[in-house]
Amino acid sequence: MKYVIVTGGVLSGLGKGISASSIGLLLAGQGYEVTAVKIDPYLNCDAGTMNPYQHGEVYVMEDGSEVDLDLGNYERFLDRDLSADHNITTGKVYRQVINRERRGDYLGDTVQIIPHIVNQIKDSIKEAADKAKADICIVEMGGTVGDIESMPFLEAVRQLHREVDHPNLVFVHTTLVPVMGVVGEQKTKPTQHSVKELRGLGIHPDVIVARCENPLEKSIIEKLSLFTDVPRRAIISAANAPSIYHVPLRFDSQGVTAYMLDRLGLPPAKEDLSQWRRFVSAWEISQEGPEVELALIGKYTHLKDSYISHVEAFNHAAAALGCRPKIRWLEATELEDKGAEFTAQALAGVDGVLVPGGFGVRGSQGKILATAWARENQVPFLGICFGFQMAVAEFGRSVMGLEGANSSELDEETPHAVISLLPEQEGVEDMGATMRLGSHPVLLAPDSRAATLYKATDITERHRHRFEVNPDYIERYEAAGLRFTGRDPSGRRMEVCELEGHPFFVASQFHPEFKSRPHRPSALHYGFLEAAMKHRVSAPGGPAEAEGPLLAVDEESNPVAAVTSAV
Ligand code: GLN
Repeated sequence: MKYVIVTGGVLSGLGKGISASSIGLLLAGQGYEVTAVKIDPYLNCDAGTMNPYQHGEVYVMEDGSEVDLDLGNYERFLDRDLSADHNITTGKVYRQVINRERRGDYLGDTVQIIPHIVNQIKDSIKEAADKAKADICIVEMGGTVGDIESMPFLEAVRQLHREVDHPNLVFVHTTLVPVMGVVGEQKTKPTQHSVKELRGLGIHPDVIVARCENPLEKSIIEKLSLFTDVPRRAIISAANAPSIYHVPLRFDSQGVTAYMLDRLGLPPAKEDLSQWRRFVSAWEISQEGPEVELALIGKYTHLKDSYISHVEAFNHAAAALGCRPKIRWLEATELEDKGAEFTAQALAGVDGVLVPGGFGVRGSQGKILATAWARENQVPFLGICFGFQMAVAEFGRSVMGLEGANSSELDEETPHAVISLLPEQEGVEDMGATMRLGSHPVLLAPDSRAATLYKATDITERHRHRFEVNPDYIERYEAAGLRFTGRDPSGRRMEVCELEGHPFFVASQFHPEFKSRPHRPSALHYGFLEAAMKHRVSAPGGPAEAEGPLLAVDEESNPVAAVTSAV
């Protein structure tokens, strides 16, 4: 097993996850089996109970584990499904050690950070890598070198380096090279200090990835090399890129792949990044395409990372459709506070409305107002999870006359609990990992829009919810025109609803955004974006047909279109 350990210095938010995913993609492009582990030095056992406002989206994997959003980047870049073992948190490690102590496994030893916690960390990393049957395991260390929380993890990888031997482990350190406004000069001092800090912990970086606004100047590379003892060819200039998808290609053009293989003693194989390159050029073409504006009605819209998988799913779909989605971020609580008229003004001119997942009563009325606006104005609508539930409640209230229809999550006294717990779910009290999580099968009605988009009637998608459509109301809904076109195999849980007679009104209880990949966009995001493009053409004041082939998906000029038609 070969390891690539990625640490971060200077400050957070440098794109360490993207750097690590990019390196993974490049090594996978050489024909090696690559997997990834993300280490999060917080005490939560998993990300499931964390507020997206602090850490961004909670990403859900096939096995139902709720993890840091970086794992989503790994799944999307490496096109591999990962599992719970691939996210190691301080909470998880301590829980394992304490459980073992209680069981008496340590045979009377005094249980300490060194060796017990550190050994547990090493074992967890090795186990995840071995189980994935990988050749190379990328380990991303969350946090910044120097944080108290990260210490046991850095000590663990220092020891791992010693144990697996030098040719089998590479340290990559990501830092920042800022430019001071007045002088306009690239500054190396933060990197020098950060490397010094790392060395103080016994870790000598092999590769430096320097985030910078513009490519590193030659003299700066020399200077960094001199002060950090890292060869010039192993200093990567990570300048601002047009998209995250360009990062692997930029790294590759600086020779990082060759250097890493050399350093790890791996023979270079036949490079194949053609699929990725095709996607990047399709994405570039999409940037020249027409702009389609989509409203995202969220609760954490100040932190865009809260909805990162949706943004990614739109990028994947856009590359296939040749358009440029622009997101109008709207705060549900504001729509709720200011009412229907304000909502209509806030939404005016958008070509689609997305109501994503969410929890709790705050902002829910704002989401209902936006849903009603899209339904009444024939504007494409996509509801996901909580968005699906709110669409059901809204339709009940406005169309079926079910006054006060709601989810029992939001109002226990509602006269019409159209969304509720199923009898077997009552009595569960713990909040962590007690939802319906992960991949579950869904059966789609053959004549549904969803089946057309998926090109299948038997699909699996990832879930993260507790509440369900109340079975007592289903017949009435269908009679009123809201069809439940996707159900679980037992037929008791509603998974997709579609509104008849509307250009595109589709909602799902599951989260298709988590499985969207550059080469395989989420079918529902694809369908929604396509409908939004049509809306743009037909909307009053929209571009005339003469303006160009807005809707023509030309498979020749758009290299992913062909791939996507197999969604
Ligand atoms: N709060 C809702 C539920 O628990 C929806 C969850 C979500 O949107 N992820 O069922």
